[in-house]
Amino acid sequence: MDNIGTVFLVGAGPGDPDLLTVRAARLIGRAGLIVHDGLVDPAIFELASPDAELVSVAKQRARHTLPQDAINALLVREALAGRDVVRLKGGDPFVFGRGGEEVEACIAAGVPVEVVPGISAANGAAAAAQIPLTHRNAASVVSFVAGQCKGLSEQDWAGLAGKGRTLVIYMGVKTAPQIADKLMADGLAPDMPLAVIENACRPEMRVLRAPLAGLADMVARERVRSPALIVIGEVAAERDAALAALALEAQA
Ligand code: SAH
Repeated sequence: MDNIGTVFLVGAGPGDPDLLTVRAARLIGRAGLIVHDGLVDPAIFELASPDAELVSVAKQRARHTLPQDAINALLVREALAGRDVVRLKGGDPFVFGRGGEEVEACIAAGVPVEVVPGISAANGAAAAAQIPLTHRNAASVVSFVAGQCKGLSEQDWAGLAGKGRTLVIYMGVKTAPQIADKLMADGLAPDMPLAVIENACRPEMRVLRAPLAGLADMVARERVRSPALIVIGEVAAERDAALAALALEAQA
């Protein structure tokens, strides 16, 4: 067993290398082999040794990743050959990151595996945009959902958004019009505030706001591109409310 390597599933966070955990930074710094997704910010690779082998499992053009089975096989093969593997994923490995499948593949192959959490896009975007995901005045429930095309119509989001609730949608840029329609069909008010956070925690970050009914127009007008998150709920307007209260106070 001594000559089997370990697979480290490491969360790279939303972008800024300062948002890595200390453990992630240490593992990246000493890694000989890093297998990464397209979403990992290039600034993170500057922490790697110049001798490290970097393997991307993202196809450049379509942003589609290698088939999951092929990624699993690659991790297992390298570890069985005696190499430690840092499997670097955007955000947190266990939030829409397929980390669960990679852990299972390692367990099935008898390969030691460790998971290092990362700051998920929802947490990073919320902090950077100063949108609290929960707030005593505005939300005591928060849900994360995936808004990509496949399976969108079958997903049951009823009750996840609305008064007192925050809904965070990953991978929802392309389907933004269908998402807004779906939520309004579930009874959500057309004027429910939302924010779209594009490239959270990166220098080019944008925070855009609209009412729910204006989501599709805003995404088209502003040419929003992935990676972006949609945060729907009263918390998206908390900061504006605080600023408005301050302005009123100054006037009085
Ligand atoms: N495991 C990742 C999510 C992978 S799914 C995590 O925990 O964050 C990919 C989706 O994450 C993107 O489509 C986008 O919705 C979101 N995302 C990832 N990084 C982001 C960033 N820097 N800014 C905004 N959204 C981001």
